[in-house]
Amino acid sequence: MATTTKKAKLVKTAPDPYKPNPWFIVRNSKVHGRGCFARKDIPKGTRVSEYVGDRVTWKEADARYEGYDVNDNHTFLFIVDRKTVIDGGVGGNEARFINHSCAENCESTVEKSRVYIDAIKDIKKGEELGYDYQIGRDKNDPPNVDEIYACRCGAPNCRGTMLWPAKRPKPRKKTKQSAAAKKGKKVARKAAKKSGKTVAKKAAKKAGKKAAKRAKKKSRR
Ligand SMILES: [Zn+2]
Repeated sequence: MATTTKKAKLVKTAPDPYKPNPWFIVRNSKVHGRGCFARKDIPKGTRVSEYVGDRVTWKEADARYEGYDVNDNHTFLFIVDRKTVIDGGVGGNEARFINHSCAENCESTVEKSRVYIDAIKDIKKGEELGYDYQIGRDKNDPPNVDEIYACRCGAPNCRGTMLWPAKRPKPRKKTKQSAAAKKGKKVARKAAKKSGKTVAKKAAKKAGKKAAKRAKKKSRR
């Protein structure tokens, strides 16, 4: 007799980003503002969404949020690579509401300059989706950047911040590298590693302006 193991079917194709997401719904979250909650069990490996929005250069993103309050960390910018940032706040979808979590059950991935959110664990119906934004630190960060990006995800291993590294690195001697070159590197690293996190905010910051704006999510370093 045949023993069949029922395997959950993996869905590796991102759902249409402009239709209601089949995997999660958006509602108020205890973590932060709105969040995304599984409509049904989501098997590990499922591509739950594509992170979409207006694709702009870093410069445009900075300009766009220049007047925003630095203490408002709600921007939905996601760093794709050294040239491009996706602004989920303009033409974006529900993926922008996926909160940061230190106990992530999802992760962001960049493929061919598109950003996807994949489940990296089996997620039960009703659970909130989250991924580690790993927002990169930047020398132009305001002094209270840790407060701005404080994490209250409630996970036992919560590191207390959406920033990465968790602690502010000690100041180093200046290197010869230009700030620009460094930036590029950081971003590149981000892209390579996590490929994809949402860097959001930082983009703003980085400009040194006040940018911090709201970036909520993501940035990874
Ligand atoms: Zn946390």
